[in-house]
Amino acid sequence: MGRGERVLPGVWRLRLPLPWPGVPHCNAWALAAGDGVVLVDTGMHEPGSFAHLERALDQVRLRVEHVRLVACTHAHSDHYGQAATVMDRSGAPLWMHPSYEHMARAAQDPEAAWQRRVEVARQSGVPEEPLRRWAEQRREQGPGVARIVAPDRDLVEGVTIDTDLGPWHVHETPGHAPSHVCLFQPDRRLLISGDHLLGRVSLYYDYGWTPDPAGEFLESLDKVDALDARLCLSGHGKPFVDVRGHVEANRALVHERLERVAGAIASGPRTVVEIVPDVHGEPLNAMTAAWRLSETLSYLVHLERAGKARRVPGEPERWEPA
Ligand SMILES: [Zn+2]
Ligand SMILES: [Zn+2]
Repeated sequence: MGRGERVLPGVWRLRLPLPWPGVPHCNAWALAAGDGVVLVDTGMHEPGSFAHLERALDQVRLRVEHVRLVACTHAHSDHYGQAATVMDRSGAPLWMHPSYEHMARAAQDPEAAWQRRVEVARQSGVPEEPLRRWAEQRREQGPGVARIVAPDRDLVEGVTIDTDLGPWHVHETPGHAPSHVCLFQPDRRLLISGDHLLGRVSLYYDYGWTPDPAGEFLESLDKVDALDARLCLSGHGKPFVDVRGHVEANRALVHERLERVAGAIASGPRTVVEIVPDVHGEPLNAMTAAWRLSETLSYLVHLERAGKARRVPGEPERWEPA
């Protein structure tokens, strides 16, 4: 069930359900702006999902027609999925970072995007049988996006979003996704962090779109740390204080996993699938495969760029210390 609650005067949290195991809901944020609201993030598009958004808005006496602007922290389905529907209903424009091909390509040609992921898995050493089974399970899930809409304005460094609380400054924070931005209100030191910073540390990288997702994520953590935010409104879970402590916990876990990956290849060439249990303490399964492979590959590529790892070509590819 969608739920709405006021967090601060002029800031409402819209908690929207998700169909994902382990990730029961996501947050959209409504920010008072003149005679309406700015809607930051939208929830995922799936059967019945729009009613959840309407219900959450209704609980705080808002309607979709009050939305004057849709701003997405990044182009993942749980943050951007209903953008088109909200725009259709409200006439509001969309502001988002321009690097959203990671979503556009997957939604426009799901089969090709899926084939690409299967190829990455095969190259990482996933054996034929589970690969086929996982592929069938995953294929049944839709992309979670009503339709791909291009931003009317690019959310890039220097852009501000005006609200009754004052302007929110855009900070580009790639890593979790190439299109990721955080919004910061400097007078009140409020941070809308999307999935860059969550109450519970959870690392995810879109692999294959930028040269070094894990390195980009670390740089984005430094950037957000420097803002010295007081309260974080994140893309999942409750708002939290001690933003610096959360940045530090993310940084520590990335470094720990980088060390584990380096340790895993120290004794000789290994496939990504062989490395995963050393990093995560358990082998791949259908639920975690895509996530863990992307994450581990991101660390390997980061080590490769630092001159600490290299690929041994083959089918599957193996990795060894450089
Ligand atoms: Zn995300
Ligand atoms: Zn999310």
